[in-house]
Amino acid sequence: MTKVYYNGDVNEKVLNGKKVAVLGYGSQGHAHALNLKESGVDVVVGVRKGKSFEKAQQDGLAVTSVREAVEQADIVMVLVPDERQKELYEKEIKDGLKPGNALVFAHGFNIHFNQIVPPADVDVFLVAPKGPGHLVRRTYVEGAGVPALIAVEQNVTGEAKELALAYAKAIGSARAGVLETTFKEETETDLFGEQAVLCGGLSSLVKAGFETLVEAGYRPEVAYFECLHELKLIVDLMYEGGLSYMRYSISDTAQWGDFTSGPRVIDEHVKENMKAVLEDIQSGKFAKEWILENKVNRPQFTAINKREQEHQIEKVGEVLREMMPFVKQNKKEAVVAGEK
Ligand code: NDP
Ligand code: MG
Ligand code: MG
Repeated sequence: MTKVYYNGDVNEKVLNGKKVAVLGYGSQGHAHALNLKESGVDVVVGVRKGKSFEKAQQDGLAVTSVREAVEQADIVMVLVPDERQKELYEKEIKDGLKPGNALVFAHGFNIHFNQIVPPADVDVFLVAPKGPGHLVRRTYVEGAGVPALIAVEQNVTGEAKELALAYAKAIGSARAGVLETTFKEETETDLFGEQAVLCGGLSSLVKAGFETLVEAGYRPEVAYFECLHELKLIVDLMYEGGLSYMRYSISDTAQWGDFTSGPRVIDEHVKENMKAVLEDIQSGKFAKEWILENKVNRPQFTAINKREQEHQIEKVGEVLREMMPFVKQNKKEAVVAGEK
């Protein structure tokens, strides 16, 4: 099996005397900056003037411009949105990097797809938490952590892997497990996971189930609870104990239906579609389309987003969630943490 690194395997001392610039204070940025600081690492947040700047100051962090933070730092973690990183790199990061510095990412997109080409005299590595930023923060505070992947693309100091592991430990990830991978593997599997399963696959599955029930004449409220709300309870069981534990917890009737109907819904045809999605990721087609979409101010993204927000499942859900303050509580926390 692949080696999994835990706290005891990691020498956090390699970060001693080093300053880390966290660029961006959104979903991942706030979590990394606060966790690093509380782990005793010297951190400065680099972000433009505005809401994020003020938030980071209120949270008690040292905050300055991106350019200034890069100039001060030995390790530069880029946590602005992927589609903004190239421009920010060209304008505010590149000229501030000194030989022997480290340029770090939480996702390999811009390096793997050649949007950012770093100078040869810096370390380049990634520390990619396998979870949303607000969980990276919340689990750290609770004494736990979100697992992470590390990968080294350039190792001029000879210390890049040790630095990546120490960084992962400082944000709490080595409590959960850290795996070494490559930029290619992290980038392609991350994009595939979010497109085919976690975000794209799941939202399409939920919508299809909801629509099937509503079109057959069932109440939208019942369909909402059945196809969306209950999902969290099921996923929590999978998270705790895998598929077997989830199946152990549900009724035998549900389990029999899972065995017999699941493969009818997610059939060979779905897997063929998944393979096509993976091919578009591997060939760079997906990356190219997303980069171009951003260059023309996101016309398709905006149109689809509007249409999706108008879907009946969203309207029904809004009303039902009003009556469940405990659910809204979590949403508020997520929004405050910058998670979208
Ligand atoms: P967010 O969208 O949450 O980042 C927003 C932050 O970036 C804000 O602080 C924003 O500041 C700042 N920002 C945006 N544009 C600029 C700019 N031009 N100059 C300076 N600051 C800017 O990003 P995420 O945390 O979602 O993603 C960051 C990285 O982490 C990405 O590489 C992503 O793939 C990766 N990742 C994200 C995960 C997640 O949970 N979201 C999971 C794992 C990896 P302002 O308020 O001024 O706009
Ligand atoms: Mg991703
Ligand atoms: Mg049931």
